[in-house]
Amino acid sequence: MKQVYLDNAATTSVRPEVIEEMVKVLRNDYGNPSSTYAIGRHAKSLIENARKVIAKQFNATSSEIIFTSCGTEANNWILRSCVRDLGVKRVITTKLEHHAVLNTVKQLSAEYGVEVVFLNILPTSEIDYNQLEDLLKDESQPTLVTLMHVNNEVGTELDLKRVSALCVEHKALFHCDTVQSIGKTRINLEELPIDFIVASAHKFHGPKGIGFAFIRKKNVLKPVIFGGEQEKGMRAGTEGVHQVVGMAKALEMAYELLDEERKHISEIKEYCKKRLSEVYPDVKFNGNNVGFYNILNVLLPLSQEKAAMMLFQLDMKGIAVSRGSACQSGSQKPSHVLSQFLCEEDLKRPSLRLSFSHENTKEEIDTLIEVLQVI
Ligand code: PLP
Repeated sequence: MKQVYLDNAATTSVRPEVIEEMVKVLRNDYGNPSSTYAIGRHAKSLIENARKVIAKQFNATSSEIIFTSCGTEANNWILRSCVRDLGVKRVITTKLEHHAVLNTVKQLSAEYGVEVVFLNILPTSEIDYNQLEDLLKDESQPTLVTLMHVNNEVGTELDLKRVSALCVEHKALFHCDTVQSIGKTRINLEELPIDFIVASAHKFHGPKGIGFAFIRKKNVLKPVIFGGEQEKGMRAGTEGVHQVVGMAKALEMAYELLDEERKHISEIKEYCKKRLSEVYPDVKFNGNNVGFYNILNVLLPLSQEKAAMMLFQLDMKGIAVSRGSACQSGSQKPSHVLSQFLCEEDLKRPSLRLSFSHENTKEEIDTLIEVLQVI
C-alpha cells in the first residue's frame, strides 16, 4: 500500500542528498571534534563549516549559532537562561505556543515566581497586537516576549517585523519559536531585531535529534547543560558531527529550492482546499483563512461518531494526518490551540491538520478525498 504522508508539520522525510552527506561523515569522519590530532581537527572543521552555512542563511554570524539536540532543548535553554541569568521578571506569551514553550514557562513561573501574561487570541487565531503594545508600555519589569512564528496546528503567522519593533521600542527581549518556519521562509536577522530563534532539522527534511539556537551577540546566556568545552562551553556534550552536517545540508537545500517548492506546496494546499470545498460545502478552515502555505487545518462537517474513527480509518488506508482536535488515549481532549479560538460547537467537530511538503502530489489529495468520502 502506498503511503500518503500529509503530516509534514510533525516531521519530514530526510532528503536523499542529506542522507548521502551524513553517511559520508559516519563512514569517514569518526574523529572526536575535541581531539587535537588530524581526524579530530577535521571533524571540528566540518562542524564549523556547517555553522557558517547555517549563519549565512539568516545574515547572522557563526558565533551566534549554537547546536542543540532539538527545538525543545533550544527553547528550554533560552527561556530558562533569560529568567535565571538575564533577570527577566515577566513573560508575555500565548496559550497557542508549542508545549516546548508553554510547559517551560509554567515551570519557570513555579521555580522563579516569574509573572506570565497570556495574550488574548482573536477568532482569527491571531494575537491582539494592540494588547501586546499596551502591555509593553509598562516597562517597570524586565520582560521577555515569547511568541511562535508559525503555529504548528493552524499555520497562523506572526508579524515578526511588528513584534520585534515593539520589543525594541519597549526594551523587551524577544524569543521566537521558529521551528515551523525555518527552511520554509527567509528570515533576515540583520533586518529583524529578534533576540533568539530556534530550529529543528527534522522539520526541514534533515535528521532528527539536532537543532540550533540563534543567540544575538548582545545577549550572554549561561548554559543549562554543563560538561566539556563544546559549543564554547554553552552546550556541553560531544557533537553529533553527522547530525550537524546533515542539518546544514538540509537547510542549504531548503533555501536553495525555497521559491520552487513554496510554489508547488501552495498549489497543493489550494487544490486540497478546493477539493474539500467541493465535497463538503460546509467545510471550514480553522485559523485566519490565509495561514502559512504548508499547513491546512480543516473543520469537517461530520458527526462525533464518525470523527472518532476517522484517523484510524485513514491510517488503515495508508494516509498519515493528525487531528487538530486530538482524541488522546481514548479521551476526547480538544486541542489546546483550537480551544483558544473556536466556539464550543466547532470544537466538538473533527478537525484535521494537513501539512504538505514538496513531495506531495494532487493525486495524493484525490486519494485523501476519496477515503474521507467513504468514512
Ligand atoms: N516548537 C514548535 C512550533 C514545534 O512544532 C515543535 C515540534 O513539533 C517544537 C517546538 C519541538 O521541536 P523538536 O521536535 O525539535 O523538539
